[in-house]
Amino acid sequence: MNEERLPAAYTANVTEMLGDAADAFLESYEARRTQGLRFNGLKSNSASGNTAVKQAVSQFSLTPVPWCPAGYYYEEPARPGRHPYHTAGLYYIQEPSAMSAAELLGALPGEIILDLAAAPGGKTTHIAAAMQGQGLLVSNEIHPERAKILAENVERLGITNALVTCGTPGELAKRFPEVFDRIMLDAPCSGEGMFRKDPDAIREWSPKHVEMCAARQWDILQDAYLMLKPGGTLAYSTCTFNRRENEETVERFVRAYADMELILTKRLWPHLEKGEGHFVAVLRKADSASGTGAGADNRPARNRRGERERDRGKSGPRTAASVRGALQQFTEWAAAELPGFAGRGIPLLFGESLYLLPEAFNDRLHTGMLDGLKVPRAGLHIAQLKKNRIEPAHALAMALQPDQAVRSYDLPAGGLEIQAWLRGESLPVPPGLHGWTLVTVDGLSVGWGKASSGQLKNHLPKGLRMMKAHID
Ligand code: SAM
Repeated sequence: MNEERLPAAYTANVTEMLGDAADAFLESYEARRTQGLRFNGLKSNSASGNTAVKQAVSQFSLTPVPWCPAGYYYEEPARPGRHPYHTAGLYYIQEPSAMSAAELLGALPGEIILDLAAAPGGKTTHIAAAMQGQGLLVSNEIHPERAKILAENVERLGITNALVTCGTPGELAKRFPEVFDRIMLDAPCSGEGMFRKDPDAIREWSPKHVEMCAARQWDILQDAYLMLKPGGTLAYSTCTFNRRENEETVERFVRAYADMELILTKRLWPHLEKGEGHFVAVLRKADSASGTGAGADNRPARNRRGERERDRGKSGPRTAASVRGALQQFTEWAAAELPGFAGRGIPLLFGESLYLLPEAFNDRLHTGMLDGLKVPRAGLHIAQLKKNRIEPAHALAMALQPDQAVRSYDLPAGGLEIQAWLRGESLPVPPGLHGWTLVTVDGLSVGWGKASSGQLKNHLPKGLRMMKAHID
């Protein structure tokens, strides 16, 4: 990329901010952009996953990203996004600098965590791996189309404890006051770190746009504050370089909220590290909220409990009978077909889709709080109700290991059969194989097939066929 194409106001900004280092920074635009992938601990830690990781490291000539133990660089012509291991959720394609944010958030198993601006899912899938399936992750994305992609990535990576919502930060803040142990806010920004990857980001950039982004970040931060539990941790990140959207926004935030303490800030610069660049600030809310913050919810807890009781009365029992019926059908099916699947969680029926919400949901939330909120994925989608029967959901397959299912059928990653399968074709199988079968690639699940009379009928969702590239 040629430096001349950068807006003059931008280069002036950078020169003022970096002084002598500005030349090195601007020259970094001439280098090729860095590409990376992050292995998914939910899949890579099994025996098959381990073998597949070794295979991927050697096949794609991967080299480690210093600040993320599961992160690796790859170089062209490697195309890991086109490999069956990608469909199997073994890794997520992610720009290496962006891997720093979830590392610094420090998510732990069993916590209740919010990813407030989550699509397409880089940070969410990273946080979910750290949580190891325990606790609750609420992954929110304001734009419905992007929320769908987020939900697809959550499914592909076999995440069982995430609730994907599609709301504004304000809508969420009203529902979830002081709920979360940790919040990731990877804010929409002016994207100066995207210039090498996406020339549109250069065209959209202007000093006015930077101001607009800073104002929006300020609004979202105030909602994040309302949702953070006393003692909770907030990670604020952007992929932009200017101080206005980074340090100055964070400084304004800690000035306005006396109970918020800035723990650290981290900058990754493209001329100093191998990556496109990122800013991360980690903040902590005092253990017992002082209530001095401009946007603090000072209503007595008694009132909030009152809302909780009212909400519960409105929702719970309304669909209880149909949920029980659907769950019973699934439980009977799973007892015969998935002896290794524990199936713990709170059953929820959205239309014909049966979900299991993580049990941790009930620790601080209740289903009435979801009333009126768009929820593209209410936990693990386990089954689809059909007339007089159920069909196991694709998401369920992606969360299973082959030894949890009665039947599985493995396809080697290097063979032609897996390519045919991913295009949506049925495969010839031994005639003895009959019924729902977990299809795997080198031992990693990629979906369901239904075997009958020597044919394995393909149940890969239509939208995922033909190796459709996931947005990354
Ligand atoms: N965290 C994501 C990841 O790692 O894959 C990337 C998030 S991206 C930097 C910022 C997201 O904020 C976008 O998906 C965008 O749709 C969303 N967004 C835009 N305006 C917003 C707003 N007013 N409130 C909340 N999110 C917003």
